[in-house]
Amino acid sequence: MATSSGKPAASTSHRVFPHLKPTDEPNLDDVARLIKDGKAKRIMVMAGAGISTSAGIPDFRSPGTGLYDNLAKYDLPYPEAIFDVDYLEERPEAFYTLAKELYPGNFRPTPSHYFFRLLQDKGLLHGLWTQNIDTLERIAGVEDERLVEAHGSFATAKCLRCGKVYDKDDIKPQIMLGEVVRCQGQGCKKRKDALIKPEIVFFGEGLPDKFFSRMNDFASCDLLIVVGTSLSVGPFNSLMHRVPSSCPRLLVNLESVGEIEHARSTVGFDFEGANGKPIRDVRKLAKADDAFEELCELLGWSAELQRIRREGWRALDAADGSNTAEQVEPQAEERQTEVLEAVEAAVDRSSEQASTSSKEVDELAKGVASVELDRTGDRKDNTAASEGAAAPGEDKKAAL
Ligand SMILES: [Zn+2]
Repeated sequence: MATSSGKPAASTSHRVFPHLKPTDEPNLDDVARLIKDGKAKRIMVMAGAGISTSAGIPDFRSPGTGLYDNLAKYDLPYPEAIFDVDYLEERPEAFYTLAKELYPGNFRPTPSHYFFRLLQDKGLLHGLWTQNIDTLERIAGVEDERLVEAHGSFATAKCLRCGKVYDKDDIKPQIMLGEVVRCQGQGCKKRKDALIKPEIVFFGEGLPDKFFSRMNDFASCDLLIVVGTSLSVGPFNSLMHRVPSSCPRLLVNLESVGEIEHARSTVGFDFEGANGKPIRDVRKLAKADDAFEELCELLGWSAELQRIRREGWRALDAADGSNTAEQVEPQAEERQTEVLEAVEAAVDRSSEQASTSSKEVDELAKGVASVELDRTGDRKDNTAASEGAAAPGEDKKAAL
């Protein structure tokens, strides 16, 4: 390949996706390949409201939603006034109505949240930065160490007058009654201005310290996933520029956002190679859950994703006394998929390293047998699974 000046192009090979030509537009398969090949081990995620919509979190900005209608009686001057400190002090009832609707405990994490948890379990999650205040990342089990709630969250609350910090559970009973919550500390009792405000960032308030103290984490990231955000709110949207210039970036969103404005621009996604460099930005226009479920399929992680979601939901059920997780998936089928995926992975590895014995495959075949023993249901599926283990090469093609 040569440039118009006759000199070889700066990159005849692709640094980020070595198997692609620099002008090839990479896709989700290529991202899966990076992860499979161990080239993406420090994955950063920047997430917005799009990962929580399937949980049923209402969008307070959209007129016509139940939430907005609930707030209509407070005659908000504009929807965002709900997150304005002056307005809070003036008409606290409106905010506490919203808090009751959005309070942690009313919603369950989505497959997207559990995908991030799975990345963490596999030691691949370098950081998860969220604009959401719903705490679903925490509920899915993402550790505090890896989580930056850029716009705060309902996890803790603070008295606006004395600064006393409360845990979300301390004030939950009152929140659930729809009451305005006030501090009972010394000197605050009976004071109207001693409001206990959940530590979500209101307009005009500073971002959490963690936002600034952890920003450098982006410099050591080797895959950035931007998901479910319009990238319209700063300074959150500027974080995507903090990754190394060779770091692949995956956008998962319903629409394309954050693109460069012109070919010379260095700020923004360049999905089509407008700036003439090998393309490192990947675009997947889809719902977040669908995209991550597809990515898990490509990685052979589907069963694991289903399992941690089921276990997560079951734990939440146990906490609130309902029983819906059990109806989600039949467990044996899930374990079968898991074993088959493990067999496929082992076959992949052993075909790459011809010297590898089939011992690993044999071990996994025992796993299939144990699933069979556990199962009380349909035998036909079990037979298929056993055959898959016995003749993995052929069955793998069929499975794919
Ligand atoms: Zn107080």
